[in-house]
Amino acid sequence: MKEFLYKSKKIISIFIIIIVSIYLYSNKPYSLYEINRIDKIDNIKVKGNKYFYLNEINKIKKQKKELSTKTFYVKKNENISLLLKKINLLTPALIVKKTKNNCFNNININDEIVINYSGNKLKSIIRKSKADKCVYESNSNSIVNHKLSISEDIEQRVYFNKIKNSFYSSAINSGLNPNEIMSLADIFGWDIDFTQDIRKGDSFGVVLDRKYSNNKLGSSLIKYAIFKNRKKTYEAYYFNKKYYTKNGNSMRKQFLRAPIDFYRISSRFDRKRLHPIFKKVRPHLGTDYAAPTGTPIYSTGDGKIIFKGKKGGYGNTIIIKHGNIYSTLYAHMSKFKKGMRVGKKVKQKEIIGYVGSTGYSTGPHVHYEFRVRGKHKNSLKVKFKKGKKLSNANIKKMRLSHKMNESIYSWVKGAYK
Ligand SMILES: [Zn+2]
Repeated sequence: MKEFLYKSKKIISIFIIIIVSIYLYSNKPYSLYEINRIDKIDNIKVKGNKYFYLNEINKIKKQKKELSTKTFYVKKNENISLLLKKINLLTPALIVKKTKNNCFNNININDEIVINYSGNKLKSIIRKSKADKCVYESNSNSIVNHKLSISEDIEQRVYFNKIKNSFYSSAINSGLNPNEIMSLADIFGWDIDFTQDIRKGDSFGVVLDRKYSNNKLGSSLIKYAIFKNRKKTYEAYYFNKKYYTKNGNSMRKQFLRAPIDFYRISSRFDRKRLHPIFKKVRPHLGTDYAAPTGTPIYSTGDGKIIFKGKKGGYGNTIIIKHGNIYSTLYAHMSKFKKGMRVGKKVKQKEIIGYVGSTGYSTGPHVHYEFRVRGKHKNSLKVKFKKGKKLSNANIKKMRLSHKMNESIYSWVKGAYK
C-alpha cells in the first residue's frame, strides 16, 4: 500500500509538471527566435530532415553572436583598453599609438563609445563626442576622424501669463518648460509658497535665455522675472550668478547654523551611528544640541510651519519649510511656543519651542535636521551662499544691464492690472 501511494504520488507530480509546462509554454509570447524556428519547422515538413532543423537553429544562434554591439559612456579614469577588456577584447596597437589622428588616446568623460564585435573579434570602435566622430575599422586597421560642426545658439524669450487654475498649468500654457517652471519656483520660493499662496489672478513674467547646441535645447537661464502674488509684486534680477531684488538684496535667505544659542553638540550627523537606546546601527540624520530643559529653540530661517505635534520617536516636533527647496526639523521639545500652528509664518530666530526630552531621547536636547529637496543633509556641512547686499555701484550696474527687462516689467504689470 505504502509503495502504491509513493508511486502514485510520483506519477501525479510528474503529471502536474507536464500540465504546468504546457500551460506556461502556450502563454509565452513569440520572440523573433521562435518565429524563425517555426519557419524552419515548415522546412522540415517539406524536406523531412531532422538534422537540417537542428543545424538551422544553431545557425540562427551564430548569426546573433556575429552582430554584437556595446555602447559605453566614458566614466572617470576609463580608457579604450579598459572598455575593450570589459567585453574580453584585445586592444589593437593602432588605438594606443600616439599619433595626431588618433582620437582614441584621450577620451573624455561622457563620450559615447560604440564597440562592434563578433565573438572575440573586434570589428570597429566609434567614438562620438560633442565636436567629432571618430571611427576605427579593424578590416583596414585605420582611424578616420570626422569633425562635427556644432552650432550653439542662445535664444532670448519672454513668457508671461495670468494664473487661471494652477500656477503650473498657467506656466506651461505660457510656453515655459517644466525645468524652467521649477527654476522660477526656486527663485521666488523664499517669498512665495507655491503650494499655498498662489491665487487666481496672480501673474508672472519671465525673461530667459535658452541655450541650444546642434539645435538641441540644453539649459535655460532665467535672467529676470516678476511675480505678482495677490497685492505684492516680487522681482528677481540675475546678476553675478545670483538673484537679487531691485534694491540689491539677495533673493536667497541665509540660515542660522544652530537652532539654539548656547549649546554643546552631543551627537553629529552619521549615516552609520550605533543608536544609544536601540544599540543597533541606525543612521542619525541630524545634529543633536544638548541644553537644559526649557532652553528656547529658534527657527533657523524664515519659513512656514508645515508640521507641529508628536511624531513617534521624535516626540514633540516642528517642521518648517523654507523657500521651495529647504526644510528643517526640531525634535524632542518639552513644549511648543504659544501660537505655533501649521501654516504659521515664522521669522529667522523666532522662538518656536523649548528644549526637552520627549520621544526616544536619553536627555534634554534638540535634534535638528536639515533637508534639501527632502533629502537629509549634514547641517554643519551644508554650504550656504551668503546673501550679502550689493554695493550701490553694483546695484547701478545691475539695473543698467536689466533696463530692457524692466520695461517688460511695466508692460506685464500693465497688461494684468
Ligand atoms: Zn538626534
